[in-house]
Amino acid sequence: MNTNDADLAFLPLGGTGEIGMNLNLYRCNGQWLAVDCGLGFGGPEHPEVDVMVPDPGFIAERRGDLLGLIITHAHEDHLGAVAWLWRQLKCPVYATPFAAAVLRRKLTEAGLLAEVPLHVVQPGGHLALGPFDIEFVGMAHSVPEAQALAIRTPYGLILHSGDWKLDPDPVVGPQTDEATLKRLGDEGVLAIIGDSTNATVEGHSGSEAEVRRALPELIRHLSGRVAVTCFASNVARLESIALAAKAVGREVAVAGRSLRNIEAAARECGYLADVPHFLSEDGAADVPDDNLLLILSGSQGEARSAMSRVAADTHPRIALGEGDTVIFSSRVIPGNERAVGLVQDNLARRGVRLMTDDDHMVHVSGHPARDELRRIYALLRPQWSVPVHGEWRHLTAHADLAREAGAKPLMLEDGDVLRLAPGTPQIVDSAPVGRFAVDGNRLVPMTGGVLAARRRMLFNGVVVGSLAVDEDGRLLGEARISAPGLFEPEDPETARMASEFLSAVADLPVPLRQDDFALGESARAALRRVVGRRLQKRPLVDVHLMRVAV
Ligand SMILES: [Zn+2]
Repeated sequence: MNTNDADLAFLPLGGTGEIGMNLNLYRCNGQWLAVDCGLGFGGPEHPEVDVMVPDPGFIAERRGDLLGLIITHAHEDHLGAVAWLWRQLKCPVYATPFAAAVLRRKLTEAGLLAEVPLHVVQPGGHLALGPFDIEFVGMAHSVPEAQALAIRTPYGLILHSGDWKLDPDPVVGPQTDEATLKRLGDEGVLAIIGDSTNATVEGHSGSEAEVRRALPELIRHLSGRVAVTCFASNVARLESIALAAKAVGREVAVAGRSLRNIEAAARECGYLADVPHFLSEDGAADVPDDNLLLILSGSQGEARSAMSRVAADTHPRIALGEGDTVIFSSRVIPGNERAVGLVQDNLARRGVRLMTDDDHMVHVSGHPARDELRRIYALLRPQWSVPVHGEWRHLTAHADLAREAGAKPLMLEDGDVLRLAPGTPQIVDSAPVGRFAVDGNRLVPMTGGVLAARRRMLFNGVVVGSLAVDEDGRLLGEARISAPGLFEPEDPETARMASEFLSAVADLPVPLRQDDFALGESARAALRRVVGRRLQKRPLVDVHLMRVAV
């Protein structure tokens, strides 16, 4: 690809598919701007993986021309990968005070805080990076300070929406800045790169104020312990829950590291000023059940979260049972239905009453439904529309709506390089895309051998055989077999397989047994046959061969 092309192009490296890891790139006259750097969760499609991040290889190779990374808001799918990928990008990072406060905690945990040039831009602020002149536009969303980016270039103005909604009363922070959006529309918008999450939902996403009004009435009539789970980063919701607790005479305690971090980041930025500091888990122990409200992390059924552990009755300090209530003040992200169902089943089994957004006004979405999308098109009047942030049915629904609103839709997949100008927009190239799994404290390619082996072990188990031979290939002693995930260690079948394995190797021709590589391969094939006869499946098979001088 000739990066010296005089043009304006957009390239998503993540964010158009089923897993929302946003990593967007803009190129103008050979210089690059990155917008968001988020992570995604493995879910049922990738049971071998907890968390994934996009492969930034394409832009890492061009980081000499990468002017900066702008974070639109503090959600994990927009900033969660910065600490993992920054060493490959090595560029300045720009974020609003709240997103910067959240990011600083992640960079500190990763030991990167001193290295990353993190610059704070005020909501509604300006930033000039090479040929890009960027205006931040305040949008309502389910996290404070979400910003759309009006990106002015010599080729025209792009509106990168980020995540947004229209909310007449967002409770925390201002409404979406419709006056600025209209001003941008008057100036002339070449294209909108826009949120498609709720493009299949008719009507309006609803207002955070509705939840704020509903919660005290809901909680007032409850006795026993009340626990609420929501997205930690939803500061408006945390405040609504805390105000509801105050109104009905309950003290608030929080459990979960993500909630602690968000509370600290929020207070640092002046949010939650009207509610008392939350108690810790230990502090909760002294509060009578009828005077306590717990906020627990784990609204998506995350296995190690406070809510999952309470549901499984394995939490060291918090227990819920008969007469207690749990409110799920969140929606279930597609893919997490089973995990959330399991948590809810565990709670129901021990007599806990459940309230969710199916049966009570305890949640509104942070993304625009169709009426809100129509409104932004009416304000911006863009020539072109590039639906992002959604699965294909959401992207196509967004495209249809854009067309009805007078914009020409352009459909992209991750890796498509869309030249927006000069001339008619078209896909001119493709960039390699991929994903890394976060595995402990390292990144492992999703398509590499390690995770292929992990997947195979997950479903087919693993068999390891070991044997010793002398320099002439004579077998020494017994063979050993271990097959975790397939046989119990004491299963006599393991010993029978070991002896079959040993005789199969003993039958190999002598010259072959004298060559390490040939012997290893043949021994592995022999072990595979021994195992295959019993299991009718293909586990990961490995042989440890020790050649001993006697
Ligand atoms: Zn978001």
